[in-house]
Amino acid sequence: MDRIPLSNSAFEGDNNAYLFDADEVVLVDTGDWMATTREQLEAALDDRGLSFADVDRILLTHWHHDHTGLAGEIQAESGAEVHAHAADAPLIEGDEDAWSAMRDRQEQYFEEWGIPEAGREVLRQKAASGDVDVATPEVTPFEDGATFPVGDTELTAIHASGHAAGLTVFAFEADGSREVLSGDALLPVYTPNVGGADVRVEGPLERYLRALQGIVDADYDRAWPGHRDPIDDPADRAGHIIHHHEERAFRVLDALDRLGPCDAWTVSADLFGDLEGIHILHGPGESYAHLEHLERAGTVVREGDEYRLADSVAERLADLEDEWWPLEY
Ligand SMILES: [Zn+2]
Ligand SMILES: [Zn+2]
Repeated sequence: MDRIPLSNSAFEGDNNAYLFDADEVVLVDTGDWMATTREQLEAALDDRGLSFADVDRILLTHWHHDHTGLAGEIQAESGAEVHAHAADAPLIEGDEDAWSAMRDRQEQYFEEWGIPEAGREVLRQKAASGDVDVATPEVTPFEDGATFPVGDTELTAIHASGHAAGLTVFAFEADGSREVLSGDALLPVYTPNVGGADVRVEGPLERYLRALQGIVDADYDRAWPGHRDPIDDPADRAGHIIHHHEERAFRVLDALDRLGPCDAWTVSADLFGDLEGIHILHGPGESYAHLEHLERAGTVVREGDEYRLADSVAERLADLEDEWWPLEY
């Protein structure tokens, strides 16, 4: 398998596409649809004596554009079969109903989280600027556990929801080493957003923590992420991100303790300060993911769109020696 780095101007860092060139030519993710990305991917294939027309199959980790952007174009040239988890397939295909349900859900959350009107307008404009005329692929949906042969090994799809509803990692063995293509479920530097990156996900933090625990338990030898460099100790990195969320949970509870009852936007402002661009969605989304998780654990109480600490939580916070709150999942 070859990693093909592709540039990306977004905050998560350069994207990766992965190439298996065996009996079938299989790509996992494609990068975005920008001209630069297309040239980089074409050049990388050309170096190996391949072109878009040779691609037999494309597996997509999730619906975000920086992973799926060129899938339609490659399919148009090659007739490649494109696969994605059933939860994300309609968005990738550009299904109008799926997109409009997503936009409606976002508007509901703008209201519920308390995002100021100026911020909502920034997000609406940002969404509109993403409506570019790009070829969308026909997608063959799969479910958790699906397998795809690549040469003398196979890729097993493992649903790892949270950051996106259909996010899937693909596990495989190579020369006795247990590897995983981790998409945005496990990144080496950045902690993937939950709550704002896909507003369709119910209980996003719980789902994400379980996906991370799955990576800890699998104890892979190496992970190949959707952005940046390979990860040599995936279990350690996944454990680190779980702990990062326990530290964040402490900060959410500490904010409620200091500020009194407040909405997700107010908690977000306390955690992250002023936000710009897509972070206007990701900041309160992440705060909401925590508040919703803590509410289900009985640690916070929701009244209308505001949250407050449950009885005795303030005392337990004051008694903590370290600034992290154990999360159940
Ligand atoms: Zn993503
Ligand atoms: Zn990504």
